[in-house]
This record gives sequence, structure tokens and C-alpha cells, in this order.
Amino acid sequence: GSTIGILGGGQLGRMLSVAAARLGYKTCIFEPGGDCPASHVANFHLKADYDDAEALKQFAQSVDVITYEFENIPTEALDLLEDLKPIRPGREALRISQDRLTEKDFLTELGLQTAPYADIPDAAALKAALAEIGTPAILKTRRFGYDGKGQARIMSPDDADTALAEMNGAPAILEGFVDFTSEVSIIAARGLDGSVSCYDPGENVHREGILRTTTVPAALPASARTDAVLLAAKVLNALDYVGVMGVELFVTPKGLIVNEIAPRVHNSGHWTQNGCAVDQFEQHIRAVAGWPLGDGARHSDVVMENLIGDDMDRVPDLAKEPNTALHLYGKAQVKAGRKMGHVNRVG
Ligand code: ATP
Ligand code: MG
Ligand code: MG
Repeated sequence: GSTIGILGGGQLGRMLSVAAARLGYKTCIFEPGGDCPASHVANFHLKADYDDAEALKQFAQSVDVITYEFENIPTEALDLLEDLKPIRPGREALRISQDRLTEKDFLTELGLQTAPYADIPDAAALKAALAEIGTPAILKTRRFGYDGKGQARIMSPDDADTALAEMNGAPAILEGFVDFTSEVSIIAARGLDGSVSCYDPGENVHREGILRTTTVPAALPASARTDAVLLAAKVLNALDYVGVMGVELFVTPKGLIVNEIAPRVHNSGHWTQNGCAVDQFEQHIRAVAGWPLGDGARHSDVVMENLIGDDMDRVPDLAKEPNTALHLYGKAQVKAGRKMGHVNRVG
């Protein structure tokens, strides 16, 4: 049989590996860390750093197609890998989503709405941008941010210096604060043949920058639901994308505003595991392996709740709840703010 290579060994890689196994594939993960969530379920674990050219070659030679569970893969590693095996989704999706500035420029050129934004190379640029965009605003590192890390809120121009110091010299962008009525995301898939399929939009609630819950169906007017699907398809087609993508949206009276895109399976799509015949993980594997996309119609309402840090203490009680599916990531150490698992409450 064939083997699917996955860059990254976190919980997303773990759930991709399980889905791949169900479709008869083996998986090989590439991950520098040892006891990682995906290593418990993948068939092979190549434990090496991304600057280890020999290990990367060995990885590419032992798999048929390469995919990934995170977007911050070093460019040099991708250069080496792409000469040996197909990488899906492709390089363009990674290039754009690795940098918030490039991403916002791309979305703007597609005619989509984003928060007002400005490149912030230095303190003078921040001062000028705050005069233009106003407050409240958010300063974000252009690269490597997740779960709200690398972000500083600016409530008044007096906060500018403190916020800039929090970037630790990293290139940043300023975003105007979007006064949204709700946050939703759309999990979209595109096959090798160019067909597009979207899951129902989910409504997301964040706490301290981290996703807490996703609820489907989202409370959305039918027109906004259609807008979300069309918008996601536009993004996927523009990138000639193959695989699953998460598109985070702000719902406002002036329409949908794109917050960010993630070129991979997405936390806000975990509800699909218990709400659809084919979940986002299987859909992604289908796409990268060249299969037709599966049926992602929602058969049940679901509330997905992330289990973060000490939420793990609730597992014995959660295990007794009716209509509740537990998904735990097998992480040895509980840490504050760390995603340890999630529950899907069905119906
Ligand atoms: P993720 O883990 O989703 O990748 P991230 O670190 O990339 O998170 P963002 O998605 O940029 O962070 O921001 C996290 C949350 O902060 C958003 O979901 C939203 O609730 C809030 N937020 C971010 N940017 C803005 C904005 N411009 N206006 C209003 N709220 C915002
Ligand atoms: Mg993000
Ligand atoms: Mg986000």
C-alpha cells in the first residue's frame, strides 16, 4: 500500500494519521520532538530537525505524497522535499499563510474584506498607522503566531511603545479592531480534480486568544452562509489548492471579513468527526491522495469544546455524559493553555 508523509506530529497529525489508516494508508510523520501525539498512532516516525537534509530525503523517499499539519515549515526544507515528492497543499498556500502581511495582501487582491492593516517595520510606522487606523487595534507578529500568541492590544496611542516591545523585534502588522457580531469559520476542501466542497460554517468562541467552542449550525443568515462558501471557494481556486483549509471569518453588519486562513485541517473543524459521514481529516487525506471528495453534509448538530490545561480534570465526568464523544491527544504533560483534547456533544 501507499504511505502518506505528514510534516508535524501534533494532534492534527495524529487525527490525520487515524483517518489515513481507516482508508488503508500507512503514515510517516516527520517531527523533531519525541513523544508527540502523532507518534503514538503513525506507522513511522522520522525524528529529526528540519535542517537535516539527509533525514528529509529519507522521509521523502519513504512516502508517496507529503502533507502537513502546520504552516511554519522552513522554506529550505520545502525546496528539498518538493523535488522528490508532491507536497499537497502546494507551496503557494504555505508562502501566503506563513506571513500575515502577505496573506492580507493576497485576500485584498482577491477582492475580499480584511481588517484595516499596515506593515509595521518600526516605531515610526506604528505611530503613522495608529493615526490612520485608530484604536482599538491589535499589533501582531507577521509570522509564527498561534492561539493569540505574539499579539498585543492597543487601546490608546499611549500603549504603542509597550505593544511594540512585546513583539521582541519581530516584524509586525497592525490591524484595526473589527467590531464583529460573531466569529465563524468555514472548513473547505478542494480535490485534485478541482472540485470544491465546504462544511457548514461553525460559530467560534475564543477565550484569551484560544478557541474554546465551535457550534454548528452557526446562527447565520442564509445569505451569509452562501457568501462564506463562495469566498472560501475563491481562495481555494486562486491557490489551485489541494486539501482542507480553515478560513476564519468575522461576521459584521457590513458582511464577512476574513481574519485568517490556515492551509490545513483546523481546530474549528473538529466537530465534523461526529457531525458528518466524512470528517475533515478523512476529507484532507482523500484530497491529497487524489480520491474524490467525500460527503461532508452535516447529519447532526454539534458543539465542540476544547479541553485546555486543567480541563482534563473533567474527563471522568465527561466520560459519563450521553451523546458526547471524547477525543484525547495523549499528551503526557498538562500545561496551562495547552490543548489536551476536545469533546463533541452531538444533537
Ligand atoms: P489561531 O490559533 O486561530 O491561529 P492566532 O494566534 O493566529 O490564532 P488570530 O486568529 O489572529 O490569532 O486572533 C485570535 C482571536 O483574537 C480571533 O479569533 C479574534 O477573536 C481576536 N482577534 C484577532 N484579530 C482581531 C481583529 N483585528 N479584530 C477583532 N478581533 C480580533
Ligand atoms: Mg492563526
Ligand atoms: Mg485565528
